[in-house]
Amino acid sequence: MNTLEKLKILSGAAKYDASCASSGSNRRNNPKGIGNTAVNGICHSWSEDGRCISLLKLLFTNFCIYDCAYCANRRSNDIPRAAFTVDEVVDLTIDFFKRNYIEGLFLSSAVFGSPDITLEKLVQITKKLRTERGFNGYIHLKVMPGASDMLFNEAGRYADRLSVNIELPSEKSLIYIAPDKKKENILLPMEKISKKIYETNEERKKTKKIPVYSPGGQSTQLIVGASPEDDKQIMRLTNSLYNKFHLKRVYYSAHVSVNDDSRLIFSEKPDMMREHRLYQADWLLRVYGFKLDDLVFSPDGTLSRDYDPKMEWAFLNIHLFPMEINKVEFEQLIRIPGIGFRTATKIINTRRFKSLDFEDLKKTGAVLKRARYFITCNGKRFDQIKIDPQSIKTNLLMYDKKPKSQQLSLFAM
Ligand code: SF4
Repeated sequence: MNTLEKLKILSGAAKYDASCASSGSNRRNNPKGIGNTAVNGICHSWSEDGRCISLLKLLFTNFCIYDCAYCANRRSNDIPRAAFTVDEVVDLTIDFFKRNYIEGLFLSSAVFGSPDITLEKLVQITKKLRTERGFNGYIHLKVMPGASDMLFNEAGRYADRLSVNIELPSEKSLIYIAPDKKKENILLPMEKISKKIYETNEERKKTKKIPVYSPGGQSTQLIVGASPEDDKQIMRLTNSLYNKFHLKRVYYSAHVSVNDDSRLIFSEKPDMMREHRLYQADWLLRVYGFKLDDLVFSPDGTLSRDYDPKMEWAFLNIHLFPMEINKVEFEQLIRIPGIGFRTATKIINTRRFKSLDFEDLKKTGAVLKRARYFITCNGKRFDQIKIDPQSIKTNLLMYDKKPKSQQLSLFAM
């Protein structure tokens, strides 16, 4: 099998891994090397759903000794299999980079032989890219639970970000659906990586001679909808991963049914709306300073499908509104539906030299369609709709039903 045939199989096999966005790593190119990374992602290339779109995303191999029920590459599936050599991945990365196709590498693998054998190969690739080929671009490495500490330590020397996939939201589901995997084999490496990142950063404050360790931190991925855990359980787990191991990101991947397996909850299509709401809730925890208790779940543990989590929080805390745009603190501003982090920053900056009216507010990027119910500008309300959840919901519904403005075609004119 030539490299191109392998590439077809192994880039296709990696497509279910959602956790390939990049951030947090900052390395400048030097005269001897090629590529660089920027703190907020590779050359700021993000797709609309937050996924980075210019990484070479590969599995090293899709030969697997494990048999996870949800996975296309599980050992019991009869599918075309392939494995790269170390040099093939190194050459592909450099070639693609030189042609400007990619800005970095996202490298994962099925478990080939043993976790140690697999991770050793991945480490060899990253080491060669960095030390022999002068590659300074972004590298995100998926590491295998159960591999040795020595390999974990080496992996973090060359990769910008490490991730250990947690895959399923509970130990019960892990045992049932991915019986070869062990909860402690996943959580222990996360803890060790987190500790190593912290220790290295502390040591580097004293001397820069200490090599960096996974400067972009660590992340993980959860499959949503293959097992019965509800949104509340998932967000509880997420919250503890952020608090305990200081993860940079938890990625949620709506389950795509690729195997006919009775252990899985069947769904015709991946539940993208659920995935979307989980990302929104995650964003509130991670960036907006919300606590787990601020998230609103229905009695069956699900996030609302109709309204985003911030809007649901506002409905539940309606007594806190309206908020005066020209007075409230930044932390309160970002709790108003329709006002995001960047908008709140602009509002605060504008307030330094003038008080804002609704026109000024529009210019900051506030989404008045949502914010108008929850605010006053210089004591005035946008309209006189009653500030109660039901009136706001009715109005939002009416707003959504209004025909959207459309661009006329030249001929219709
Ligand atoms: S370890 Fe499980 S999820 Fe990973 S490739 Fe093998 S079967 Fe798939």
